[in-house]
Amino acid sequence: MSVGVESIDNDHKMLLKLINEISDAIEHNQTAAVIEDVFQRLEIYVTEHFTREEALMRQCNYPGLKAHIKEHRKFTAKVPELKRELLSADSTEVAAEINLFLFNWLMNHIVGEDMCFAQLAHDSGLSNQNRRKPSRRRQLINWLGSKLTLGRRIFLTALIPIMGVCLLSILILWISVQRFHHVQQLLEVTGIINEISDLTHQLQIERGLSTGLISSGYRQFGDALFEQRQRTDATVTAFEARLRTLPEVDPLLATQLQLTTAKLAQLQQLRQQTDAQTHTASQNLSYYSSLISSLQKIPEDTLKLQMGSELVHAITAYTAMLHLKESAGVQRALGTQAIAEGRFTADMYQQFAGLIGEQRSYLKVFQQFTSTEQQNAWRPLFNGPAAHHARAFEAQIYTALKNDSLAQIDSTAWFDVMTQRIEQLKILSDQLGEIIDTGAEQQVADLKVRLYITAAILLVILSLTILVSWLLNRSVIEPVQRITRAMARLAEGRRDLRFTDHFAHDELGRMTLAYEQCRRSLLRADVSSTVSNQRQNIELQARIREKERFRMLASTDPLTGALNRRKFSELATEEIDRCQRYDRPLSVMMLDLDLFKQVNDSYGHAAGDEVLRAFYHTCHNNVRSSDKVSRLGGEEFAILLPETNREQATELAERIRIATSELVVPLEHGSQIADLSVSIGVTAWADGIFNDIQDMLEMADQALYQAKERGRNRVVCSLHSTQTQVTPETESLADEA
Ligand code: GH3
Ligand code: MG
Ligand code: MG
Repeated sequence: MSVGVESIDNDHKMLLKLINEISDAIEHNQTAAVIEDVFQRLEIYVTEHFTREEALMRQCNYPGLKAHIKEHRKFTAKVPELKRELLSADSTEVAAEINLFLFNWLMNHIVGEDMCFAQLAHDSGLSNQNRRKPSRRRQLINWLGSKLTLGRRIFLTALIPIMGVCLLSILILWISVQRFHHVQQLLEVTGIINEISDLTHQLQIERGLSTGLISSGYRQFGDALFEQRQRTDATVTAFEARLRTLPEVDPLLATQLQLTTAKLAQLQQLRQQTDAQTHTASQNLSYYSSLISSLQKIPEDTLKLQMGSELVHAITAYTAMLHLKESAGVQRALGTQAIAEGRFTADMYQQFAGLIGEQRSYLKVFQQFTSTEQQNAWRPLFNGPAAHHARAFEAQIYTALKNDSLAQIDSTAWFDVMTQRIEQLKILSDQLGEIIDTGAEQQVADLKVRLYITAAILLVILSLTILVSWLLNRSVIEPVQRITRAMARLAEGRRDLRFTDHFAHDELGRMTLAYEQCRRSLLRADVSSTVSNQRQNIELQARIREKERFRMLASTDPLTGALNRRKFSELATEEIDRCQRYDRPLSVMMLDLDLFKQVNDSYGHAAGDEVLRAFYHTCHNNVRSSDKVSRLGGEEFAILLPETNREQATELAERIRIATSELVVPLEHGSQIADLSVSIGVTAWADGIFNDIQDMLEMADQALYQAKERGRNRVVCSLHSTQTQVTPETESLADEA
């Protein structure tokens, strides 16, 4: 009986106690003074309680305050009225009703009215259950609980990790796609390596020839240079075309490409200077060498792009090979210049010797970054006849230098030998270029596969996460929904819903258990209330039966069950009224067993009683249900016969007389009483002669007396005016009046 507000709850307990006291007073039939006292205390307490309650309602701005005050006033006015009613109540039913009213009022007051404002009092911090300020965590939880439904909250708990997985998947995919683009770009960039190789090769030849031309004082290499320039131009065009199709590349690489193309643009101007003989062989050599070195830096810069180690090795080996080739190219040009000029300056000599050392170190790098199989396969290219010729020529140059006979060596022969060697190296670098190309292609293909696999795995993970989250979500929300439905049905009074699902020993499991316990308690309450109702019903029925018995006892003769004289008179008066009003016939007969004293004397009083009962049944069985059989006293009976005239009544009396004479009353021990007889006096209603039933009975009694007088066992009918004897046993008595 608690609404959750301490002071109000205490008041309710006190009110219940007082109402119980009233109930006790009613039950134990206490004196008026006791009842007065309890009521007085109830009146005082109710007023105090209402004042307290209304103040609290005002404090929390309860919107139903007005209606509540109205109810309070109504009840305050009702209490003295109830007291008056109770004190003047003449039946226990009224007292019980007042008692029930008080209990119902209290129940309605607590459950129906105060429960509504209790929540508001709680929210306003007026309830004793709400004194401590909730923690921030609790506040946040409460806020979420008030803003989002349970379904939404559970949905969000599933959605957030899914979003996380989604974001992670997108990130992984994005990284993979970026990488893929990067490698695709690498493929494009490595694609220009072949063009660079061709271009440097042609430039190297052109450099050698132009250096030779200048050094020989424009006597040699002129035609060859002219042809070579055309070949170089063709590769320049191819290289530039390739550059135009190149996608956006790494900034460093882009700068290098720009630098190279800028240098390449000066080629025509340089050629013009060569043709105009306005610059030296060294200037010429320096330009070409710087252009070639710029070109060779491009493959080196591609190493800055992200790629697999195999590709890195191949590009490093390739770059080493380009440098080696370039070194050989410079050596060729330098050699051509020195031979053509017929002398080696100290600088040139040092450079020449340095180039040979440089080539060795490039070869080492090349060997380091190529596999043994590759080295075995390429050995003929390094150590073949071209290499031997070049080395032999080198030795020849050194010897000529010592002998100062350099002018005897043919610079064209030197150029050709070196060109052959460089051609061999070109074959090697081309093969490496192809390896790089296929390597990059392979890497793109590998990455594509990896990208697809990553996407597929992410898709599977995402689908599984969604599926598992959805299942978990449903596994929480569905039982909660079912329990809610079941509780709602329970509140509607349906106790048949039972949970058959098995939950873990968790909150849901405990919830269903609590539901089941609640259901059983309610079922038990239902059963006990039904049983109590039934018991009350049985008691009520018994009381009704008892009442009926008393009523019967008050109107019937206990020995025979016939109507007693009082009831008979009552019914007869009603019938007389009716027969007078509607002018209907009405007769009465009086019956007296003949010589009944003898029966008592011969067989005993109990046997006499048995005869009386048998006689009554004989009468009862011979009359209509509307006829009333009454025992007026002793062995004397009367029968009221509505709708029956004198003749019919006499006829009936005769039938009863005969039936009585044939009556055999069995007794204990096998004996019986027979030879009974009855004398009957009959009279019929006559307006103006009779006033009431007493008059009729007196007249019938006179006829009966006549019957006794005339020898018993006969019917005498009073005729009011003439006396007629109907049969030897049935006679009519003239009305003496
Ligand atoms: P009559 O033919 O003149 O009527 O003779 P009677 O013997 O029947 O009449 P009387 O009035 O002298 O006797 C009536 C007897 O009925 C007297 C009494 O013992 C008996 N009696 C009256 N009431 C009861 C009763 O309730 N039970 C029994 N067994 N006998 C009763
Ligand atoms: Mg008698
Ligand atoms: Mg008698």
